[in-house]
Amino acid sequence: MTAGRLYIETLGCQMNMLDSELVEGQLRRLGYETTADMQAADVVLINTCSVRDHAEQKALSHLGALKKRKAKHPDTIVGVIGCMAERDPDGIVSKMPHVDLICGPGELNKVPAMIEEIREHRTRAVALSQSLSRRSTPLQRALEYDSVEALDLSRDPAPGAVLQAYIRVQRGCDKFCTFCVVPFTRGAERSRPASSIVEEAKKLADRGCKEVTLVGQTVNSYVHQEDGRPVRFADLLERVNDVSGLERVRFVTSYPGDFTDDVLDAMRELPKVCEYLHLPAQSGSDAVLKRMRRMNTVPQYVELVERAREKVPGITLASDFIVGFCGETEEEFEDTVRLVERCRFKNLFVFKYSPRPGTVADKRLEDDVPEAVKRERNMRLLKLQERLSFEDNQKLIGRSFEVLVEGYSKAAIKAQESEQDRGCEVDRGCEADRGVGAGAAVKADTHGHAPPARRPREIDLMAIGASSHRSFADAVAGADLRTRVIPETPGDDEPHPPHARPARDWRRANQLVGRTRTDRIVVFSGAPNLIGALVNVRVHAATALTLHGEVVG
Ligand code: SF4
Repeated sequence: MTAGRLYIETLGCQMNMLDSELVEGQLRRLGYETTADMQAADVVLINTCSVRDHAEQKALSHLGALKKRKAKHPDTIVGVIGCMAERDPDGIVSKMPHVDLICGPGELNKVPAMIEEIREHRTRAVALSQSLSRRSTPLQRALEYDSVEALDLSRDPAPGAVLQAYIRVQRGCDKFCTFCVVPFTRGAERSRPASSIVEEAKKLADRGCKEVTLVGQTVNSYVHQEDGRPVRFADLLERVNDVSGLERVRFVTSYPGDFTDDVLDAMRELPKVCEYLHLPAQSGSDAVLKRMRRMNTVPQYVELVERAREKVPGITLASDFIVGFCGETEEEFEDTVRLVERCRFKNLFVFKYSPRPGTVADKRLEDDVPEAVKRERNMRLLKLQERLSFEDNQKLIGRSFEVLVEGYSKAAIKAQESEQDRGCEVDRGCEADRGVGAGAAVKADTHGHAPPARRPREIDLMAIGASSHRSFADAVAGADLRTRVIPETPGDDEPHPPHARPARDWRRANQLVGRTRTDRIVVFSGAPNLIGALVNVRVHAATALTLHGEVVG
C-alpha cells in the first residue's frame, strides 16, 4: 500500500536539485509515490531558493496555489524546505499559515520524521540549523558530526536509470560575498569525507551512470582530513577519476579567489576530468569586486584564466556576472564588458542585482542603479556574449569531438509531442492520457519526477551559451530544474502506454543531443541506441548555442 502521493517543486541551484532527489528517495523508500500533479498530492514540498527575490516570490506563489487544496483536504501536508525555510521561517508562516513543515537545507534528513510527527500530532514541524558554529575552521568542521551526511549516503538510484548525476562534495560557504545570502541559509562551509564521495560515485557507476558532477558552493575549497592529513580538491578529483565505469567527471562551482594550480594540473592529467571550468567573475571592475567583498582582483582573475588556458589545452570557461550592483557606474560596467571581450567565455550567466535581506550589501550599500539601467546592461552583456559564442563556435566547423549522447533533441521531442497530442484528440483521450503529450509530460520533466508514460526526457538548453550546470546566476533566475536521466524508448516488442506511438515513430525523430567534454551542446542524427554512449561527431554547422554535426568513425 502506498504511504501517499508526493510532489516536490524544486527551485534554484544544483544543490537544491540534488536535495530534492535525496528527499524524494527517502520518502519513496517509506512507500510514497511521486505525482506530477501538485494539486493531487498528499505531501507537497516546495524546495526553495533565496538567492533572488524573484525565486522567493515564485515559492510563495506555489504555496498560495495550495491554500484551497489545504482548506478542502486538511490532511494534505504542505512543506517548505531549502534556503527560504532557513532564511525566513516566520515570514513564511505569517504569509502562508497553511504551511505544516519548515525545514532548512541542513536538516533535510529529518523530513520523513517531521511528516510522521505532523500526521500524528497535527502540529507544525520546524527544523532549522541556525545555531551552526563558524568558530572552527573548515578542516576541523569536516570532522564534526554532520547529520545531513545520512541523506547523501541514502542515495539509491535504480540500475540503468541515471546517465549523469550530481554528487555533493561540500555544503555551505564561508566567503560572505556582500550580495549573497547563501552563507546565511546553507551555513558554514564543510566538506564531506572523500571516502563517502568515492563510494557514492562507485554506486552510481555500478548503476550505469557515465558522468558525475561534483558540486559545492566553492568546490575548489574542498578539504577533508583523513588519517591526520588533508585531502584537497585535486586529490578528490584523482580518486573519483579512478572509479571504474565512469566516463566523465565535472565540477561546479569554482571560486577564483582561492583557486590553486594543482586543480588545473589535475584537469590536464586525469583523463576523465573534463576541460570545462565554471569560474564566476561577478564584475570586471576592481572597485565593484571590492564592494562585493570578492577575494580576487580583475588582473588576478585574468591571470587565472590565462593560466587555465595554458595548463589545460582546449579548456572552455563559463562565468557569472552581476550587473547593476550597488553604485555600479557606467565606467565600471564598461570594465565588465572589456573583461568579457578579453576572456571569451563559452557562455555567461548574467543577472540583475537585487538586494537580499540580511546581507551586508542590503544593510550597508544602496541599491541605486535604476532598474532600466540594470536591464540595459544585462541585455548588452548577453548580446556581446551571443556574438562571441557565435564567432567561437564557427571556428569549430569541420572539427570532430567526443560527445556523450544524452537523449533526443528538443526539436525532435516537440515533433513527437505534437504528434502524440493529435493522437489524444483523435482518440478523445482523458486528461490523464494526455500525460503523454506536451503539457503534463513536460511538467513531469520539469520536476524531475517519473513521467506518467514512457517518453524521452527533454534536454535543458540554456539561453546564451549552453551549460549542463546550473550556476549561481542560473539559480537566481529561479528557473525550474530538469533531471537528466537515460531516456526510455519502448522496443517493438514491449507494451506501449496509451497513445504513445510504437518504436518506429520514436525512431523517426532521430535527432539526438549530447555534450562535448568542454560542455558544448551538439545536435546530430543517430539511432536511439546511441543514447548513453560516447560517439565522435564532426561539426558541420554552428549557432551561438549549438553545434550541429554527424557521427563519424
Ligand atoms: S557568491 Fe558564492 S562564494 Fe560568495 S558567498 Fe555566495 S556562495 Fe559563497
